[in-house]
Amino acid sequence: MLDQHRVRADTPGCFGQAFLDSAGSSLPPTVVTETVIAHLRREAEVGGYRAAAERADDLADVKVALAELLGARPGDLALVESASRGWADFFYAVPLAAGEKILVSEVEYASNAIAALQRAGATDAVVEVVPSTPAGEIDLDALARMLDERVRLVSLVHAPTNGGLLNPVREVVELAHGVGALVLLDACQSVGQVPVDVTTLGVDALSGTGRKWLRGPRGTGFLYVRPELARTMEPAALDLHGAQLSGQKQLGGYRLAEDASRFEFWECSVAGRLGLGAAVRYLLGLGIEAVAASVAERAEFARACLAAVPGVTVRDLGATRTGIVSFTVTGTEPAAVRESLAAKDITVTVSGRSSTQVDMSRRGLDAVVRASPHYFNTLEDVQRLVDAVDAIR
Ligand SMILES: *Cc1c(COP(=O)(O)O)cnc(C)c1O
Repeated sequence: MLDQHRVRADTPGCFGQAFLDSAGSSLPPTVVTETVIAHLRREAEVGGYRAAAERADDLADVKVALAELLGARPGDLALVESASRGWADFFYAVPLAAGEKILVSEVEYASNAIAALQRAGATDAVVEVVPSTPAGEIDLDALARMLDERVRLVSLVHAPTNGGLLNPVREVVELAHGVGALVLLDACQSVGQVPVDVTTLGVDALSGTGRKWLRGPRGTGFLYVRPELARTMEPAALDLHGAQLSGQKQLGGYRLAEDASRFEFWECSVAGRLGLGAAVRYLLGLGIEAVAASVAERAEFARACLAAVPGVTVRDLGATRTGIVSFTVTGTEPAAVRESLAAKDITVTVSGRSSTQVDMSRRGLDAVVRASPHYFNTLEDVQRLVDAVDAIR
């Protein structure tokens, strides 16, 4: 059980409003904010290089903490600026030839889909969409039928941006590996709210972000790459951090870093990285199981109450649900719902068709209201949402 009093005391932003947007950009705990600000102050005093050197141990700990959370080793991780950056860093490094295939699911995040289309266009490869079951998960039978030795990569979204679905991963990995295809997991909406263990899941790579469920700073993200791949893949772009020149008087080639750091560039926001480390340590201190239980309780409460409001349709799919609660209100546009909630200091977002085009189009939806309670929310926060939605219609 989480100490609600303590986690709320650690979250100054949670008072005086019902903040229900941890799937968008969450409220950081004080330790994260203070870590970032303190480092910026130190940079102003002694310059960025000395300031970073002073925090060398804490900087190394960022990957140690993330590795602990993900069941990986620190060397399997690359720290990047966003989930999309990490996803693309891996995706653009997967060799692709004419006639080969990339499979994506119906809930593919638009940024990933755009990258897939771009590379398919450049290489004459093909992007195919694996259908969903009526319940909403990726259809494993359809996937099995679509997989053959031409498939290079299956891109799977663990938890989509537009609803409470959690996709099966292990089963997808087993099917994909059966034909030698790689699995890249977009775990942007799952890491930080549910347990995610790369070894259990068996994925080849995984991307995530700092600012959502992890409650870290903006501009932080990470990429996990399975060790064998991290040692052998050639990133699409390199700098003197991911590789070293090997020649003496002339350019004699370069040697890649031996681990996932080959996917990193040298420069970064050191303050942001330290803040990410503080966020992950904070989460590890609470325990992901307790966090997941707390998120599930709040999201299930929201779904049950919203579903009982006449004119409200809860839009979440799937047998296993996450902390993302999506709904529509008959006769009121999602954006208008968001605005009227904002006027009562209730923060939610709208997820539009352009973020998850195939899924939304198939379901005939232009947009949904997205409420994403985290463990620092009270059930009263959720009740405020429900009452305010009830007052709209
Ligand atoms: C938010 C989101 C992303 C993109 O994350 P960034 O950190 O903004 O790059 C990718 N996939 C899903 C499912 C998301 O919800």
